[in-house]
Amino acid sequence: MNRTQPRPPSPPPSPEAPLLAVRDLRVEFRTRDGVAQAVNGVSFGVSAGETLAVLGESGSGKSVTAQAVMGILDTPPGRITGGEIRFEGRDLLTLPAEERRKIRGARMAMIFQDALSSLNPVLSVGYQLGEMFRVHRGASRKEARAKAVELMDRVRIPAARARAGDYPHQFSGGMRQRIMIAMALALEPRLIIADEPTTALDVTVQAQVMELLADLRREYRMGLILITHDLGVVADVADEIAVMYAGRIVETAPVGELYRAPAHPYTKGLLDSIPRLDQKGQRLNAIKGLPPSLLSVPPGCGFHPRCPMARPVCRTDEPPLYGEVGPGRASACHFWKELLDER
Ligand code: SF4
Repeated sequence: MNRTQPRPPSPPPSPEAPLLAVRDLRVEFRTRDGVAQAVNGVSFGVSAGETLAVLGESGSGKSVTAQAVMGILDTPPGRITGGEIRFEGRDLLTLPAEERRKIRGARMAMIFQDALSSLNPVLSVGYQLGEMFRVHRGASRKEARAKAVELMDRVRIPAARARAGDYPHQFSGGMRQRIMIAMALALEPRLIIADEPTTALDVTVQAQVMELLADLRREYRMGLILITHDLGVVADVADEIAVMYAGRIVETAPVGELYRAPAHPYTKGLLDSIPRLDQKGQRLNAIKGLPPSLLSVPPGCGFHPRCPMARPVCRTDEPPLYGEVGPGRASACHFWKELLDER
């Protein structure tokens, strides 16, 4: 799709419309070795107050999807070649760059994995948080400082007032991630996208940061998208899960249903590879093989070289996302029913 062509204006939002509706999104990267189809027809929605976890191995397209939604995709080499990203009723892909910039930060915000490289090392955290209010809300230095301390309190940083003058390196990894969350929350956005927000943290701190995000999402009634490679991290906080593989969504389900009865062999493989306390001493069931290069995704079902259930049809026929799996569920596996019947 040529994005330089003007498109008709977006219709006004309906009251039932989800906060974010992504439809048939396609993103490709042109490289010296060919064209990588990083996101290949991805659709999902997030409502206010809801948490969607987007799960997948590295290279599955989950972070590229998030960057496309945020409008921070590197172009070139990336290029959105099709689809729609409708946020609060407006198709973001048709908006002028200046409009999108205004939405970013104020209406939707992102939390990155690496807080240390996302924060300015030579400015105090209080200054950096306060800057959001000075730049976007015209606050005075004193007002901005007060707002920064209030935000630090909100994300449960002990002795916030005393610590507002400290620099990023003076905080632990978990506290720095809280500061990133505070930055994202500053302008009270309607949607937060958190890209692997706890990957660099140890397990206990991971749980605390996840709990904080879940509490704030409830308090602010925001939509939250959690991008992760770790199914174990999202079990307690997500409402819905979308599993990505080789640029496509291969399964979507409410979180409890997906854990109870996965309808795609890839999801089942991910669940089987989570360490469990009652299986101490046993080998973990890792999924065999590696994800494909996005330059050469296998024909048919992209998962077939790694799938223990693969049949000849899987090598030739690409499975659609079958929507009849159950309420709110879909699976891109020809044999989803067989998998559910096994349970
Ligand atoms: Fe496995 Fe075939 Fe299902 Fe793909 S379509 S996940 S290869 S059984």
